[in-house]
Amino acid sequence: MRIQGFGGVGEIGGNKFYLEARGEGIFIDFGISYSARRRFFGWFLRPKRFSLLASLLTTGSVPRVANLYDRDLFDPTGLAAEALSRAPKLDVRAVVVSHPHTDHIGHVSLLRKGIPIYLGMGSYEISKTRETTKPAKTVEDKIFADDERPVQLFRTGARVRIGSFEVIPIHVDHSVPGSYGLIIHSPEGSVAYSGDLRLHGPKRAFTEEFAEAVASQGVDVVMMEGTRIREEEQVTEMDVERGLTRHISARKGLVAVLTGLVDYDRLRSIVSASEAAERTVLVSPRMAVMLETFNRLGVMPRDFLPGGGRVEVLVERKGSGMLDKQDYHGWEREYLDRILERGLRLFTDLDVAAHQGRYTVVLNSPDDVLDLLLMRPVEDSLFIYSTSEPHNEEQEIDRERIDNWLSILGMKSIQVHASGHASREELAKILGTTRPKKVIPIHTENPELFQPVLSRVAPGSTLINLHPQVPITI
Ligand SMILES: [Zn+2]
Ligand SMILES: [Zn+2]
Repeated sequence: MRIQGFGGVGEIGGNKFYLEARGEGIFIDFGISYSARRRFFGWFLRPKRFSLLASLLTTGSVPRVANLYDRDLFDPTGLAAEALSRAPKLDVRAVVVSHPHTDHIGHVSLLRKGIPIYLGMGSYEISKTRETTKPAKTVEDKIFADDERPVQLFRTGARVRIGSFEVIPIHVDHSVPGSYGLIIHSPEGSVAYSGDLRLHGPKRAFTEEFAEAVASQGVDVVMMEGTRIREEEQVTEMDVERGLTRHISARKGLVAVLTGLVDYDRLRSIVSASEAAERTVLVSPRMAVMLETFNRLGVMPRDFLPGGGRVEVLVERKGSGMLDKQDYHGWEREYLDRILERGLRLFTDLDVAAHQGRYTVVLNSPDDVLDLLLMRPVEDSLFIYSTSEPHNEEQEIDRERIDNWLSILGMKSIQVHASGHASREELAKILGTTRPKKVIPIHTENPELFQPVLSRVAPGSTLINLHPQVPITI
């Protein structure tokens, strides 16, 4: 089998791995490379709509493959066609997506509509919800909303035939529902692909199940994510829940928590901690819609939805600032109408300002910090960063800006977080179970740090260092 890494090699995310056997191939993930985006683009330096594909191809942000992309994205000036004029064609039978984070699925949006996408129900539903509720949409965000792509949904343990490949998805524990590791058999060898995973979340047994399946099926190569191969720290989601409970209970003023839109484990921890402190959790309409999706997927109980008494909807005042219906459009207007029809109450910053000790406000974006101004936080208020520490310049600037606002508002801040990724010791445990002949580090900036771990837990294993674009044969 030939393995070629078009993204996710020497970088965290942007996974795009091409596996080929007997001339047929499949892509495993087709995510957005945020490191490439950061190198060439910024807040105001964005590709133009009509030459998006040309900009991405020219900067090497997406693979140069002649027959991969949607013809509608080819610019009239011919730049994209030029960039692909000497590019090879690949016989791509399908794209298999491990989970719904955009660094794994995002650039499926650019692909030719005829390529079938194989993914779990969770990845599909969560991506669709994220897409329809996104405030400003670009071509890059449109993956499934138009329903034009052939989609094949799989469940854990399924045996999925794609040409001469057999793909077996096995669920893993990660910070979003519907995350899978993949075992891929072909007439020219077999591979296990970790996706993103961890061993310290509520679903750690899923990851153990994947590792055991890899061991029992005896694959040639394990492609293992190593986001945190440098890190020893092992904070679990249970630690986070305890930490949140302690901090929230100790406060009488406003508590705001910044967390990711799709991190369902974290939302559950925030709700439990708030309940212990007799606070109701307030979420944005966008997050409320995502909670409904989680509920449909069976990973979030009904009483976590608005109206269940634990979580309610916080509406941002827009336009006139008077909650005028005209200020809300599209899905948001529909959602708010639906909430009101059910006789439920909508909350605003005015409610929070008047009763600061009654609520925990969940924010999903650094920009939401502006809403805190209207909530007039009293002295004993707290801002909780429940996201990873900033790990690039852009995120550092975001955090600095939030900190500036917090100092104006007189709010203290703390960090309470557990990662979606396995620490070094967890990776050692997983590799110790799988005992692979060969290991290819992926989704990491430190592939070389796998060597000492492998020597310790799987001494017979060989480390293979993949280079971007360069194919290897296993
Ligand atoms: Zn990732
Ligand atoms: Zn992920």
